[in-house]
Amino acid sequence: MERLESLIDAAWSRLRMGFSSALQGRASHEALLSRQDCELRLMDTIRRCLQLRVKCDREYAAGLTQVVAQAQKWERAEDMAGSLIAQAWSTMMDETESLSRLIRANAETLATGVIDKLNVLTTEKRASRKIYQDEQSRMAFEISRYQENVSKLKAEYEKNLEIYKIAKARYEDQFVKGKAGRKLDEVKDRYVKACRRLHNAHNEYVLLLLEASQYERDFRTVLLPALLEYQQLVQEDMVERWCAIMRSAAELTSFSTDKHLEIQKRVNGSISAITTDGEYREFTDRHKSQPPPPVSFLFDYQMMEEYSGRLKPEALAVDDLTIGNLRMRLADLESRLADVRNVLAEKRKQLSQHDAEVESLKKQQDSVNRLFVIRRASEILRKDIRETQCTEQKLQKLIKLIKTPLDELGGGEAPKAVEELGEMSPQPDRPLVDEDWFHGVLPREEVVRLLVNDGDYLVRQTTRNEETQVVLSVAWGGHKHFIVQTTSDGQFRFEGPSFPSIQELIAYQHECGLAVTNKSGAVLRQAILRERWELNNDDVELIDKIGRGNFGDVYKARLHLTSELVAVKTCKVTLPDEQKRKFLQEGRILKQYDHPNIVRFIGIAVQKQPIMIVMELVPGGSLLSYLRSKQLGSALDVGAQLAMCRDTAAGMAYLEGKNCIHRDLAARNCLVGMHNMVKISDFGMSREEEEYIVSDGMKQIPIKWTAPEALNYGKYTSLCDVWSYGILSWEIFSRGQSPYSGLSNTKAREMIDSGYRMPAPDGTPDAMYKLMLRCWEYQPENRPHFAEIFTQVNGLFMGVAGPDVLHN
Ligand code: ADP
Repeated sequence: MERLESLIDAAWSRLRMGFSSALQGRASHEALLSRQDCELRLMDTIRRCLQLRVKCDREYAAGLTQVVAQAQKWERAEDMAGSLIAQAWSTMMDETESLSRLIRANAETLATGVIDKLNVLTTEKRASRKIYQDEQSRMAFEISRYQENVSKLKAEYEKNLEIYKIAKARYEDQFVKGKAGRKLDEVKDRYVKACRRLHNAHNEYVLLLLEASQYERDFRTVLLPALLEYQQLVQEDMVERWCAIMRSAAELTSFSTDKHLEIQKRVNGSISAITTDGEYREFTDRHKSQPPPPVSFLFDYQMMEEYSGRLKPEALAVDDLTIGNLRMRLADLESRLADVRNVLAEKRKQLSQHDAEVESLKKQQDSVNRLFVIRRASEILRKDIRETQCTEQKLQKLIKLIKTPLDELGGGEAPKAVEELGEMSPQPDRPLVDEDWFHGVLPREEVVRLLVNDGDYLVRQTTRNEETQVVLSVAWGGHKHFIVQTTSDGQFRFEGPSFPSIQELIAYQHECGLAVTNKSGAVLRQAILRERWELNNDDVELIDKIGRGNFGDVYKARLHLTSELVAVKTCKVTLPDEQKRKFLQEGRILKQYDHPNIVRFIGIAVQKQPIMIVMELVPGGSLLSYLRSKQLGSALDVGAQLAMCRDTAAGMAYLEGKNCIHRDLAARNCLVGMHNMVKISDFGMSREEEEYIVSDGMKQIPIKWTAPEALNYGKYTSLCDVWSYGILSWEIFSRGQSPYSGLSNTKAREMIDSGYRMPAPDGTPDAMYKLMLRCWEYQPENRPHFAEIFTQVNGLFMGVAGPDVLHN
């Protein structure tokens, strides 16, 4: 019942708005034909596109196969067995293969199944259009043929009617005139003929009219509607098939069918199976081994077998001979412990800042890279902290070992060490430091450089295992270093006889011509005396304190020999040897350079504490204070500022040429000399290498001056100095303002990473600011080298100051 109703509904709606009722007019007929032409063109376009799509998909599938082939080149090593990452990767590649197969199969079905169906449909549509058009014109032709015939018969009818009227009038006329005979018969006969023809014509006409009007009515009410309805049905049927073709095409070109989703699901599943603790499980199981056996550092009791003195294994000898040393050692250790604790506190603070940052970064989706960098930095910090804690404990133990017996002693005097031996051996009058062949704590690298020929020798001092030792260094088929041994009765010796002083020992060793030790065979021939730059501490007279450095105070001083005024950097006595070596490193580096824009090295004084680096006195002091000074800084004009930038560029170009990376270029580390000439100073962090990778965490790095690659990966090159040079120029033009003021180091780093650069300080020439921006290119290779910077800044300076001016 319901079905019947819906059929009636359908029929009714077709009647109301279907082709048969709506499209009977001539214009509709034309429109219907043109619509079908459009559809045919659309089908053609679709077919061509699908063919292209097939080509595309085949190529894509082939590309994926190549990806898989590439992946197969990786050799699966035994050691990767059990690796979840490797497993996930292989699933990914297997599934890529499946995806490639699926895409290829779909492309083939599209090519054969779908496009063929579309071709058939196109042919049918073309045929149905023709049938419709032919049928339409046949009916139209029929109507017009009826019209033609009707008018033809009507003309015939009229003609016969005319003839009939004449014949009839003639016959009636003869008859009225009473004529008879042959004449009347002839007239009557013609009349009868005319009458027959008229009647026949009449009948033909009436019959044709009926037939024509019947046809016309049929055409309007039955034939045309039927043709249109048929046409509609055919078109609708084609719509259904066309729709099915589109559906198949869509499905075959879709990337999100169930099959695709399954592939993705398998890949996702294998990736989700990766866990940080699972990754190396099988590997660690398979390669399990015993930890290395502990190396024991135990007091060798055997040594004591023939010894009858007071020394006890593992306890310190606290007596009148050692107490001074022990107290110094204790002070030194305590100050190192304090330093280590400061470092530890600083690192813990940094770590907690990192942890906080990690927490906040986790909430932001777009900071994944930064998150990794910070996490890595945190791991390094954690490792550093553990290491520093070990140092702390070691120092604590050493302190305890010394402090306990000292505390036990209280204020009392230390026991005499050698009472029973009677008088002490006579000490030499001349202190060791006065000997020209004694080089104090000269670093080993320098020592090696000084000893050239076999037999060259010198004496120096070093600290080993926390103990000060005097060392004889000799060139003998390489370099040999002999520690001067102290005998139990306070004498000095190598393998031969012992002497009351080191001077006598060395003199003996030189004169006797025997080898220092049998094993080395090294003989002393030529004493190497201190070099010009190895100054005696007593030659340096400190006058005024003029600054404070990382390692100790900086003084204005006078050199006795020449009366020259110099600047002297001192190193705090309490700093550990390692730090002292670092302090001297700056002197070692500076010694090789000679350039008007690099502070000139004069010498080092390492005979006594405090050890010193002596260099030219640069009267204007630090560039930063100079820039900030109301009187001096604000008097600087653009020319003077450009000259300062040019000076530093000249110095840096010189350093770059010598493969020296400064690593701490900043206004605070430059000095201002006569005529405002800037000199680069503070080479404490510099390295002589083309590329320097920092591996020991981030110690005291000047974040706001340091290039991103150095901060993120510890990778230093001269192009990092170029970045710092950009900041330094900014400092010069801002008259000593703090860069990124108001931003914390972390925030500044973050903003740099996301592309922020400081604006130009007021009055900076455009070209100079453009140069700063080039120095701050994120990728180091896009930054200019110093030679180019120098040429450019020099050009700018000449432009402002005029070609005759060389110095402002
Ligand atoms: P550090 O490298 O240990 O940090 P600096 O090189 O920064 O030490 O020196 C500290 C301060 O001493 C400088 O800011 C400057 O005022 C002063 N100074 C250092 N070297 C000289 C010098 N050659 N001439 C004049 N003053 C100097």
